[in-house]
Amino acid sequence: MNLQDYIRDIQDFPKEGIGFKDITPLLISPEATNFCLETLVKTLENIKIDKVVGVESRGFFFGTLIAQKLNAGFVPVRKPKKLPYETISASYELEYGRDTLEMHIDAIQKGDKVLIHDDVLATGGTAKAVCELVEQLGGEIIQMNFIMELAFLNGREKLGTRPIFAALTY
Ligand code: 5GP
Repeated sequence: MNLQDYIRDIQDFPKEGIGFKDITPLLISPEATNFCLETLVKTLENIKIDKVVGVESRGFFFGTLIAQKLNAGFVPVRKPKKLPYETISASYELEYGRDTLEMHIDAIQKGDKVLIHDDVLATGGTAKAVCELVEQLGGEIIQMNFIMELAFLNGREKLGTRPIFAALTY
């Protein structure tokens, strides 16, 4: 199966000049979803993961599926003021301005082995902020994985030596 067949290119979304990778054709196909899930978890065979951290909102789809497969807990990282309990936060630069992400303070225990998941690695700002949240609570990042990496945006450069896996690379 070629996962690329299930990713749709949308020009000028969410604004002019941006080419957006739409994952909804993948989500609508149970076969492609299962293939993508297996591709993502295969790289973690025999590796203990305590928590899978998924990033709002498209990181929630596969994040929860991966967590179930690995018998790990799922932790949502959300935009400000969405989580009901006490939170920690991390900010990152956008093209125009800054954005903030939050996680519950009791979501990760010191020493937890953590997998971070999101749908797309683009400039790496989001993933870097999530790393900061996990590390603030003493979690150990075992891997960051993505459905796809937009390699031409050099997101990896922001993420240091932490292991990164993408099922697809553009
Ligand atoms: P970054 O912070 O790496 O520049 O952007 C990654 C975040 O933006 C991810 O949370 C991802 O969901 C979203 N994102 C950026 N570009 C795309 C895209 O082309 N398609 C999708 N589905 N998400 C994107």
